[in-house]
Amino acid sequence: MLLGKVSLADFPKEGMVLSGDVRIAPDILPGDAVSGVRRLHMEARLFKLGDTFHMDGTLEAELELICGRCLEPYAYRDSIGVRHSLQPDGQELGPEAFAYADEAFDVEAMVRELVELSLPMKPLCTEACKGLCPSCGANWNRGACDCRPVPQGPLAEALKKLTKGE
Ligand SMILES: [Zn+2]
Ligand SMILES: [Zn+2]
Repeated sequence: MLLGKVSLADFPKEGMVLSGDVRIAPDILPGDAVSGVRRLHMEARLFKLGDTFHMDGTLEAELELICGRCLEPYAYRDSIGVRHSLQPDGQELGPEAFAYADEAFDVEAMVRELVELSLPMKPLCTEACKGLCPSCGANWNRGACDCRPVPQGPLAEALKKLTKGE
């Protein structure tokens, strides 16, 4: 089942289960870290208290991100907790709350926001990613290049500043 907009009209007393995939194009996610969306699968229970709905479940996200060091795409998985309330549009929203209008809730918009918030600040293909050579651009994960090793450390930083005339 594909989850997009969910109708909240004639909501069953015992609540309902939302189970299905959400389709989101990678280019509507911010930044350029997401190069692909493989699967977004949500399993959640939805129940109603007054005019507020409560959602409890998980969103399994399988994405393809671009590594911040070597710039190669890599597979990324995250299991995101979905514990939110849905309040009628126009109410002041509490923390962790989303609005619904016209007796329908836009699951897709919520998932987009949850994915956005859960993305790593600095995506890395592996913690040990060696990155790219700053001189020739070779991917050091695939082996060393022939460039001279770049000096690192406080002394090298100070020298760099001197030669740049900063
Ligand atoms: Zn990398
Ligand atoms: Zn190099």
